[in-house]
Amino acid sequence: MTKDQAKKRIQKLKEVIAYHRYLYHVLDTQEISDAALDSLKHELKQLESEYPEFITPDSPTQRVGGVALEKFQKVKHKERMLSIEDVFSQPEFEQWVDRVKKYSGKKSVDFYYMTKIDGLAVSLIFENGFLIRAATRGDGRVGEDITLNAKTIESIPLTLRTPNEREIKQLKKEFATSPTLLTQLETLSGRIEVRGEIYIPKKDFDKLNASLKKKGEKTFANPRNLAAGSIRQLDPTITASRPLKFRAWHLADMGQKTQAEAMALLQMLGFKSAEGSQAGSINDVRLAFERMGRQREKIPYWIDGLVVRVDNLKVFYDLGVVGKTPRGIVAWKFAPEEATTVVEDVQWFVGRTGKLTPVALVKPTFIAGTTVTHATLHNADEIRRLGVKIGDTVILTKAGDIIPKITEVLKKMRTGNEKTIRVPQSCPMCGAPVIQKKNAVDYICSNKNCFSMEREKILYAARAFEIDGIGSRTIERFIQLGLLTSPVDLFRLQIDQISGLEGFGEVSGKKLVAEIQSKKKIRLSKFLTALSIEHVGETTADTLARHFGSIKSISNASIQDLQEAQDIGEVVARSVHRYFKDEDHQKLIEEYLQEGIEIAKQAITKRTLQGLTFVLTGTLEKITRGQAKEQIRNLGGNVSSSVSKKTNFVVVGSDPGSKYDKAKELGVKVLSEKEFLSKLSQ
Ligand SMILES: [Zn+2]
Repeated sequence: MTKDQAKKRIQKLKEVIAYHRYLYHVLDTQEISDAALDSLKHELKQLESEYPEFITPDSPTQRVGGVALEKFQKVKHKERMLSIEDVFSQPEFEQWVDRVKKYSGKKSVDFYYMTKIDGLAVSLIFENGFLIRAATRGDGRVGEDITLNAKTIESIPLTLRTPNEREIKQLKKEFATSPTLLTQLETLSGRIEVRGEIYIPKKDFDKLNASLKKKGEKTFANPRNLAAGSIRQLDPTITASRPLKFRAWHLADMGQKTQAEAMALLQMLGFKSAEGSQAGSINDVRLAFERMGRQREKIPYWIDGLVVRVDNLKVFYDLGVVGKTPRGIVAWKFAPEEATTVVEDVQWFVGRTGKLTPVALVKPTFIAGTTVTHATLHNADEIRRLGVKIGDTVILTKAGDIIPKITEVLKKMRTGNEKTIRVPQSCPMCGAPVIQKKNAVDYICSNKNCFSMEREKILYAARAFEIDGIGSRTIERFIQLGLLTSPVDLFRLQIDQISGLEGFGEVSGKKLVAEIQSKKKIRLSKFLTALSIEHVGETTADTLARHFGSIKSISNASIQDLQEAQDIGEVVARSVHRYFKDEDHQKLIEEYLQEGIEIAKQAITKRTLQGLTFVLTGTLEKITRGQAKEQIRNLGGNVSSSVSKKTNFVVVGSDPGSKYDKAKELGVKVLSEKEFLSKLSQ
């Protein structure tokens, strides 16, 4: 290869690599494999080492290079990097719209909304198409020069891309882009500034934290810290090892007329941009906000709301700046799901099985739309794990509809007056001694008739019987008045006992009694739930009911019999067995029956296919494959996808595949659909 050929080849390689970078990082597509692309990069590196005179700063081989810095240089932003005002509700958002209309004198404005990425804002400066500087926001006027580090991020182009003819046409058609801007796009001459967010995708965040933890290094509390920490490394090789990405959200004025046009330009210039769209009304923005809120979990990076701005840039700039924030832009944030608060006390709550659960009483705080006053601490182990004390400032997290929990203690906020949380030695409800369970995690009240346990049991039974209109408070009062001592007493309540009590008139007393009396018929699974057997929740109760069919056969079952039901292990079997052997419990069931409780029999689902393995092949006529699988599993059988010697039956529908041949070869029994269906109904 001559020197001239090498030069041309190097140029070609750089162009092709840049093209594939664009496909991968901006358009999310790939035309050649990673290996092929690596091979091109490798060839480039080889050629450059032979002809170092042709190495240019924009070569993809130069992404990681240079030496570690002593410190970051300060950089003055030509155009201030402003911050954005936050709003947290629709009324606040509408107030912003009103202000925009008032100050712009417009009756209606179009908006552009985009995802607010939780990362680190940076400014990129290109001169004649080449990336010459990257800087952090800093205080808005002066940031830090992070050029070497920014270059290691592949989604940041080292040179701007020249839009092709088709794209130029599209710009003209869609945005009536000005001729001067179009000319500039051809030459990419002069200075072009792009701003956006450096961030880390969720899955990479988890992966990186896991590997840091493994190495015994410090992990990062959130992706923004990680992005910021990674970009502010003096040694670019460390930054290069971090899976950082970039998305653009701002293009400094080049003569574009709207934000929508700017976003289209950004993509053509080689940037992935924040996801967004134009919107013509408040309602459109609201719908987008709600949709993003719902999809938030599925988006591969963290967002904390929507950025909404006036789409028309003339109007936007005319609106000006108040303090540090432009009037024409706002961040509509999702309700925070985390807040800090102070643990004021810890109460031990006694559940229906007697287990003590610590609940932190916290200074009321607002999270995700509700005021929170309590947070669960699960058990004594959790208290130890968190190291939480009374008086501590903590981080409360609420995910979905789950009860908020304490996820972190801010130990630096301690004053020294915090009090250690101790497991009470006597039950806070009845005063009986508290005993530690064998698993050493749970503590229980030793009093079988503990008041709190009674209350919870009655409440649980009321819910299982689907009795409306009676809650924890009422039950507590009725217990105190001696009206309730066990769940059966619910069915013994008389109108005259209730009417006249505080909160109960004659009508409401009558109503409650009628409601209770109307719920005397109950399904077996619900009845089992109502008994509050340890380890037996609704699902297990349902399994037991379907397996045994009647309360009598469950109470007569041995531990071994019980374990034959699907998914019933030894612990549950022992607990159920112990429950029914207890005379008090036998008496309770007897009393229920005497009060006229009718337990509806439940059809027994026999496990006739216990231990048998089936393989399905071909098309079944009468039932779908999914239904067939479900029925096999319900009857205790297994379904496998491949035929082996362990297979008991291969069910063959029409057009069977190779599994049929394999079955014949191995001598596995073959069933026609008809034979299979009759086996299911045996
Ligand atoms: Zn107690």
